Amino acid sequence: MDSFFSPGSVAVIGASRRPDTIGYQIVDNLVRHGYTGVVYPVNPHAVAVHSIPAYPSVLAVPGPVDLGVIVVPKERVLDVVEDCGRKGVKALVVISAGFKEVGAEGRDRELRLSERARALGIRLIGPNCMGILNTDPSSSMNATFAPTMPPAGPLSFMSQSGAMGVTILDYAKEYGIGIHHFASVGNKADVSGNDLVEFWEHDPGTRVILMYLENFGNPRRFTTLARRVTRAKPIVVVKSGRTQAGARAAASHTGALAAVDVATDALLAQCGVLRADSVQELFDVAMAFEDQPTPAGGRVAIVTNAGGPGIIIADACESEGLEVVELSPPTQARLRAIFPAEASVRNPVDMIASATSESYRVALEAVLGDPNVDAAIAAFVPPLGVRQVDVATSIVEAFRTREPRDKPLLAVLMGRQGLPEGRAELHEAGVPAYTFPESAARALAAMVRYRRWLERPVEEPRHFPVDEARATHIVRRALKAGRRRLTEFEALDLLEAYGIPVIPHRLATTHADARAAAEAYGYPVVLKAVSPGLVHKTDVGGVRVDIRTPQELDDAFGEMIRELGEAGLDIDGILVEPFAPGGRETIVGMSTDPSFGPILMFGLGGVHVEALRDVSFRLSPVSEVDAVEMVSSIRGARMLDELRGEPAVDRGAVVEVIQRISQLVEAHPEVSELDVNPLLAFPSGCVAVDARVSLGVEP
Ligand code: ADP
Ligand code: MG
Repeated sequence: MDSFFSPGSVAVIGASRRPDTIGYQIVDNLVRHGYTGVVYPVNPHAVAVHSIPAYPSVLAVPGPVDLGVIVVPKERVLDVVEDCGRKGVKALVVISAGFKEVGAEGRDRELRLSERARALGIRLIGPNCMGILNTDPSSSMNATFAPTMPPAGPLSFMSQSGAMGVTILDYAKEYGIGIHHFASVGNKADVSGNDLVEFWEHDPGTRVILMYLENFGNPRRFTTLARRVTRAKPIVVVKSGRTQAGARAAASHTGALAAVDVATDALLAQCGVLRADSVQELFDVAMAFEDQPTPAGGRVAIVTNAGGPGIIIADACESEGLEVVELSPPTQARLRAIFPAEASVRNPVDMIASATSESYRVALEAVLGDPNVDAAIAAFVPPLGVRQVDVATSIVEAFRTREPRDKPLLAVLMGRQGLPEGRAELHEAGVPAYTFPESAARALAAMVRYRRWLERPVEEPRHFPVDEARATHIVRRALKAGRRRLTEFEALDLLEAYGIPVIPHRLATTHADARAAAEAYGYPVVLKAVSPGLVHKTDVGGVRVDIRTPQELDDAFGEMIRELGEAGLDIDGILVEPFAPGGRETIVGMSTDPSFGPILMFGLGGVHVEALRDVSFRLSPVSEVDAVEMVSSIRGARMLDELRGEPAVDRGAVVEVIQRISQLVEAHPEVSELDVNPLLAFPSGCVAVDARVSLGVEP
């Protein structure tokens, strides 16, 4: 990856003398922004490009070439790659378009491209991208065709969309947002977003990772990676809409519920990733992280020179989950002593229009010193007579001298002047300045979320000893037979192999079988129809509970066979199992999200789960903390506590089942959907009485 961002030399293959071409722009950007290495334009028809000697082919370049930027027409890209292989080029950025994005023919071409590059030992960014850049003074390399070079700073940015890349760089420049590395990854034929995240994890110049994503190439890898990287550096992502889970039909309760209820941000939050809804919001958040410390908590103080903005900011903060706290009495007294009677010294502090720049310094110092406060927002509406620049200077001063040091200060400069000088001054000093109150509130809220993430204990998923051979056998056998679902028997067996308590059960095809089973278990018992085509047994009268006598058993057995036969159902037989009364019905399940991979669900409900919709989701795998949270975060969690004289259920047993299911789906990616519904929970222990398992295409 170093060959991409810190190459000693760059060959621009397809460099052009015509200023309106990409092949010229890239040479120009490299030269104009002071690239510290050597630039070799490659163009068989030119003696020089941009006053630099040109070479007819990369093989004719006299010195070594670390990075090749390819801008030739798509038909010639493969030949150029061969030349680069022979030349010993280690990294290529393929700007040329006409690959996967243009359909079948392009897909073939792209496949050949990535195969050749791999065979030649070359890493490749693109094709169909807008290039990469590194603002570090040691390299100062702009190998993009974007018209702007952003200022240097600690943010590294990956964009999946080239067009967005141009906008992003423009925006960064306009707002003075400091970029370290930027990469437009295009079609991601080789280097992916994940590769960049992994690289930036260890890159000392990168403090915050920003991503503009259209889809996750390898969601499992992303979530695993993100969980680790976000412990050290924040990752902020702009990702489109909700997950695509809804696009496909689901055969399980979990699948159906996941399709409506799981939002991308909830899943991103579980791997510590901060989600922004727009590029604007991404930068709002990034700006705060750029120079400010992460606050210890969400208690915020607001200082303004007008009542209205104070209220708007307070509202925005509260709706983002921040707390506009009561200032401590000494702070209030301190402010009272300086400000006129009409001023409000309670949070939000309104110094009224007569406030001077000095007022800001004093008030901010006071609130930032308050032990009740974790962060402050200073807002300024330009009145007559006070210069915005002076206020900015005071805010900066308050920020520099604040005690303790771990409290962030954000500014909101309202007014019609667009981007007044004060803003640049603030930004220079490391105080992010926003035009809108909501931006500041959102940015601060993101920092607080990040702090909570950092404080969350790091816990590896537990590993339980299980009967792996038996589980593998069950799954393989079904796949070999070309089945996409396990039978109920197999599903329960699979759970059992993973140490999950399962209700004893026996298949009966005759009255005598059923009687023998019932006698073995003891009455009361339950009868259930077993049929390959049957999804929800209760819906067709396929479940009879609480059968107390041999007579009842005979009657029920005969009725079931008859009714199901009349309904045209092909049944394998009837399952006999002990009736386990008094348990509280819960569901534990898994469904596979096309963007995120396996998602686990816990909820209340049994057959009513869809009506109640009281469920919680987590990305798999889950740690013990996650599983505990899944159980406690449903609305009706109290249903599991002591209830109407019944003792509380054994939450620990349920939590363990969730973790065992998590281990199961991690070890068996062929399992695409799973429902344990119900998992009956008792004061001591729990038991699975019904299970459904779907198998997907082998990954
Ligand atoms: P399905 O979900 O296919 O309709 P289940 O096997 O889940 O069928 O049974 C439906 C409901 O019957 C369960 O939610 C539970 O309330 C009850 N039930 C089933 N088996 C038992 C059992 N062994 N003991 C107690 N209740 C049971
Ligand atoms: Mg069920």
